[in-house]
Amino acid sequence: IGGHPTGGQESVRPEGVRSILAVASGKGGVGKSTVSSNLAVALARQGRRVGLLDADIHGPSLPRMMGVNQRPASPDGKTIEPLRAHGVTLMSIGLMLEEDKAVVWRGPMLMGALQQMLSQVQWGDLDVLIVDLPPGTGDVQLTLCQRAAPTGALVVSTPQDVALLDARKAIDMFRTLKTPVLGLIENMSVFHCPECGHEAHIFGHGGVRAEAEKLNIPFLAALPIDLETRLAGDAGTPVAAGEGPMAEAYLALASRLIE
Ligand code: ADP
Repeated sequence: IGGHPTGGQESVRPEGVRSILAVASGKGGVGKSTVSSNLAVALARQGRRVGLLDADIHGPSLPRMMGVNQRPASPDGKTIEPLRAHGVTLMSIGLMLEEDKAVVWRGPMLMGALQQMLSQVQWGDLDVLIVDLPPGTGDVQLTLCQRAAPTGALVVSTPQDVALLDARKAIDMFRTLKTPVLGLIENMSVFHCPECGHEAHIFGHGGVRAEAEKLNIPFLAALPIDLETRLAGDAGTPVAAGEGPMAEAYLALASRLIE
């Protein structure tokens, strides 16, 4: 993961951040935040200095998944001190809002919030800042790509046709914005029955890999539907922080990205 200059517009890229990795999806609920948080923890376990920015302004879920809920401090009223959890430096718009309040913001306000989180948060020196984007192709994606020049984007999809259809739009958006798509990740790809070992393809099978091949984008991982992943996320300690096959899978994904 290396650097990449902003084209034309004034940059809001934090100074000490070597690379920015955007995590995107076409549709909500496919596991984008789960992948972002686990990948951040896995990269940190491998000795990288990792930041995680929750830019999913309409549905911030990273505070819960990372087990933090305190409001970040702003001693000087201008800069914001990020939080730390599981070895990761963390900031979420969700930490500035009350948990059960809906956000009804228009485009310019969304863009302002993102820029503030990039430029006013004291990220410090990071090898990689992972940005968990909102689903779809909107103002936040546009602002990030134009103003912070991400090194690349990962696109998360389930194998379901509707998710894949929207993932294609997200890939197309990144191509238009000249942000390299570093890979596709299939989440909820298969369910291994813990009782009988049977494999069930609940959302379909093979679609994301085939799409990656068609578009000539690396296929980075197929992550199963996994109870432990869901429980760990709800409990605020990502599965990648522990031991076992899912932690291994995320560590392998992290290794592939820093190859
Ligand atoms: P998104 O960020 O795309 O909206 P989330 O990461 O919030 O999606 O995931 C939606 C829900 O699905 C969460 O409750 C999460 O715990 C669960 N989930 C995500 N990935 C998996 C998985 N591989 N196995 C089981 N549950 C998952």
